[in-house]
Amino acid sequence: MLLENLTFEEVENYLKEKDIILIPIGSTEQHSSYGLIGTDFITAQEITKEVGKRLNILVAPTLPYGMSQHHMAFAGTITVSPLVYTQLIRDIILSLLSHGFKKIIFINGHGGNINSVRTAFEQVKYEGKNGFLEIISWFLLPEVQDLERELFKDENGYHATPSEVSLTQYLRSKVFSDKKKEKDRDNINVNMDGEYFPLTKEEFRAFYPDGRIHSSPWLARVEFGRKIFEKAVESIIKRIQAYEKIEIK
Ligand SMILES: [Zn+2]
Repeated sequence: MLLENLTFEEVENYLKEKDIILIPIGSTEQHSSYGLIGTDFITAQEITKEVGKRLNILVAPTLPYGMSQHHMAFAGTITVSPLVYTQLIRDIILSLLSHGFKKIIFINGHGGNINSVRTAFEQVKYEGKNGFLEIISWFLLPEVQDLERELFKDENGYHATPSEVSLTQYLRSKVFSDKKKEKDRDNINVNMDGEYFPLTKEEFRAFYPDGRIHSSPWLARVEFGRKIFEKAVESIIKRIQAYEKIEIK
């Protein structure tokens, strides 16, 4: 059930039955020479749509831009500043709360968004608004991480991961026909001594010149993407079902 396809009366009727809504959020940023610029919002969007469909829960339009300033030394990246992103998330929450939604769940595809989203939650509470606010980052779910270890051993890494590249290969197989797939360098270096975060775009490019962070995206396969998609959807469904039982004071 997509919010964008309803009328206001249909939303009012939904609110008589349910008070929960899901919002996919991601980023528009480089994912090395193996992954799509849209990776983080495409994965979050398709996982969220599937969860919404299976649970009959409303899904708000995807927020495709996120906090990606550290990727700005790579062409195609579009970022929102951390303060603006926090405000934007706050405004989205306040809009939904004002209509009567009481449980607002962000399904996230990008690690760089998490601090700003949590700060927005704190701000909304500071402004005295009741309601349940949560962010679920699919790539941080323990069930998904177990599967990633099974599929990629210690080569999943932290950015442009074979996991997210597999997912997008599964979700958008056609656009991968002209993308690089073969391994072009030595295995990842998992020694993170001397690395630090956050980074400016110059620092990022100096640390990670080809845009990966300790990942082996050449291990990505459509079939792995199907498995990861199913695992992420199942794991999120379990959590949403628990959240549906929470009573808002
Ligand atoms: Zn990503």
